[in-house]
Amino acid sequence: MSQSPIAASAASSANSNTANARARADRIVVVGAGPVGLTTAWLLHQAGLPVTVLEKNPTVQEDYRASTFHAPTLDLLEESGITAALERMGLKCPVFQYRGWTEGKVAEFDHGLLGGLTRHPWRLQCEQYKLSAHLDAALRAQSADSVCSSHSVIGLQQDEDGVTLQVQTPQGEHSLRADWVIAADGGRSTVRKLLQIPFEGKTYPDRILVMGTPFEFPKLFNDLSLVNYVSDPGNYAHILRIPDLWRISLPLTDSTPDSVALSDDYILGRLQALMPQIGTPEIPVRGVYTAHQRVAARYRQGRVFLAGDAAHLNNPKGGMGLNGGLHDAISLARRLANVWHGRRDDSELDGYELQRRPEAMNAILRQTEENVKNLQSDASQRDELFARYRKMAAEPEAALRHLMQTSMLASLKRCGMLQ
Ligand SMILES: Cc1cc2nc3c(=O)[nH]c(=O)nc-3n(C[C@H](O)[C@H](O)[C@H](O)COP(=O)(O)OP(=O)(O)OC[C@H]3O[C@@H](n4cnc5c(N)ncnc54)[C@H](O)[C@@H]3O)c2cc1C
Repeated sequence: MSQSPIAASAASSANSNTANARARADRIVVVGAGPVGLTTAWLLHQAGLPVTVLEKNPTVQEDYRASTFHAPTLDLLEESGITAALERMGLKCPVFQYRGWTEGKVAEFDHGLLGGLTRHPWRLQCEQYKLSAHLDAALRAQSADSVCSSHSVIGLQQDEDGVTLQVQTPQGEHSLRADWVIAADGGRSTVRKLLQIPFEGKTYPDRILVMGTPFEFPKLFNDLSLVNYVSDPGNYAHILRIPDLWRISLPLTDSTPDSVALSDDYILGRLQALMPQIGTPEIPVRGVYTAHQRVAARYRQGRVFLAGDAAHLNNPKGGMGLNGGLHDAISLARRLANVWHGRRDDSELDGYELQRRPEAMNAILRQTEENVKNLQSDASQRDELFARYRKMAAEPEAALRHLMQTSMLASLKRCGMLQ
């Protein structure tokens, strides 16, 4: 049986003097087994780098946040086998719509227009926890100790040669040495806080109520596509199909406590007010989320890198948070592999922040902020907004430009990750 990396690291520290303890650890540690951490770990593993993932939870959590994987993300992950796994578990949605509650369908955009630019001209809908569970199992199948569950990072020091992490485990507190650390430990990142990296931006006043139901929304709206954005100031909605359920999100614009918002009475009241014929559907999935727009001041500090939500948070309208995090994972894994295998020098790693942070600042924050403003449009703004959508949808070049923005193709081309 292989020795756990924590035990191996503890043994090597005990047997060595300080100079030796600072020698190369021959290990990259990823903190956080969310979709970004696990994707990074999988890409590093495939590139032949020794990687250990530390995750504070005992098992993969059933997490209904992200479900959208955009076309260029699928292109970039194709070689790793992740795209094929997502396609097995997910649902291809070539078309999305902009709608009004009273106006119905306003405009429809078909990813088919991107045909010459992507091998995956659709949005793939798949719950993020299914990707995490798939990668968790794939990594464990390579090596039993590649993912260490119930291992929470609580401290960190670094020197010229590496990073020492303090880790809380079921057996007590241990330290673990790594050559490089990738912090993919989410929006509340412990590592980012330990490094005192500012995370400036804003928190939206509205929370988001997410509901999953077997109720068939096409019974009420027969021209509904699989992905739909409905503009309305108090009831802006995202209605989309995920493989097993329909999912609808509505804003919580007042101070209704989360516990009330999650109750049957509240949820059915909100749905019935908008769709009186909906009856009393089952709502097996429900959650309340706070949305932010924040970007870390630095993505690299010495031998530690931030990726995914640890580096940037944005509102979920447009499905760009996880996709952006996966683009971080791809950029960082490629760069670390180049340096590890001696193909490039350390400056390759500085390129990570230069490539990814401007996209988080300019593309993702700007686009998602615009998405929310458009969704919140009141009756006086909607005429103009809907006229703009209709015009764009009717002009193939304008529709193509819009799809390039919404699918993140434009962002990835701009930052040099796609030709
Ligand atoms: C309602 C909603 C809908 C969304 N929809 C989409 C969408 O359709 N498409 C999209 O692209 N994005 C979407 N997002 C955003 C997406 O969910 C996140 O961007 C994504 O989860 C980020 O993944 P991550 O791996 O960076 O972080 P997380 O998923 O938060 O994972 C972080 C992991 O780190 C672990 N961890 C934390 N602290 C420690 C520690 N100290 N030690 C060890 N482990 C630790 C956590 O337990 C967790 O497993 C949505 C978000 C919301 C709220």
